[in-house]
Amino acid sequence: MLLTGGTGGAKLVLGFHEEAAAEDLVVVCNTADDSVVHGLHVSPDVDTIVYTLAGLIDPAKGWGVRDDTFTVLDQLKRLGNETWFRLGDRDIATHLTRTRLLSEGQPLSRVTAALCRALGVRSTVLPMTDQRVETRLATPDGEISFQEYFVKARWQPEVLSLRYQGIEESRPAPGMLEAIAGAALVVVCPSNPATSIGPILAVPGVRQALRDTPARVVAVSPMVQGRSFSGPAHKLMVTLGVEASVTGLAEAYRDFVDVLLIDTEDRHLRPAIERLGVRVLVTSIRMDTLEDKKRLARELLNPSI
Ligand code: GDP
Repeated sequence: MLLTGGTGGAKLVLGFHEEAAAEDLVVVCNTADDSVVHGLHVSPDVDTIVYTLAGLIDPAKGWGVRDDTFTVLDQLKRLGNETWFRLGDRDIATHLTRTRLLSEGQPLSRVTAALCRALGVRSTVLPMTDQRVETRLATPDGEISFQEYFVKARWQPEVLSLRYQGIEESRPAPGMLEAIAGAALVVVCPSNPATSIGPILAVPGVRQALRDTPARVVAVSPMVQGRSFSGPAHKLMVTLGVEASVTGLAEAYRDFVDVLLIDTEDRHLRPAIERLGVRVLVTSIRMDTLEDKKRLARELLNPSI
């Protein structure tokens, strides 16, 4: 099973999808980036994973549906709506369906399963929780949502702290704790530790389940030499109270992770990480091509890891 956000995690999820039986994959997605846009419930990380598994993802953008058009968005703009959060026409069909099913009283996990079925996804995709959780980032100009920070402000504001609103009342999605306990392998994807993996770990019971599982828990670093491959993960590490490096990542995950995959360029940090009680595997963790993604998945599936 895999725990993931959107961009970085989706690359590894695709590698696993190519290298393992689709039915064997359980993918738990962050939902703390979810937001209501034009009245529609958008689950960006869930959608990125579902579109990836369905072969529909736009490979250039890394989100949304391939070859999508933006007719609805253009008209929304004309009508005076804010359109900094881009939604394609086919993508909107997903959000319309999700919003209708939620309004009929179905939980997000069931809605996600229905979307997967409709799109021919044979893996299990679980939102981390059926309850509403929202990452809120405190900046010098006040508190903003993750999408306002990431998309609208292009992750430029200084982030003083962050919190996962609603997390105390949330419960793991049905089947999630059982999947962790019964997994052959748990992979913490190279996703943002503060805004993608952090919320999943903070759902009550999840972190303990990861500590307790007999499965090996392996994390892949989303950064090299103290920098994220993309996005603000390195900047937001400070909100976790650790330094922006793979050593800081090991500190943040050490209570439940057995093995950490770091890049060859970080190989000198191996002794410091192993002193924290986390075993290190040094490899190439950059996933630019499909072959990179498949190779990394194969390395993780190797029983001797
Ligand atoms: P988000 O929800 O869109 O922020 O997506 P994620 O949290 O899943 O992904 C963001 C993280 O993916 C960033 O921290 C990136 O550094 C990381 N990332 C992007 N590309 C790669 C890659 O090729 N390899 C690795 N190891 N991490 C990557």
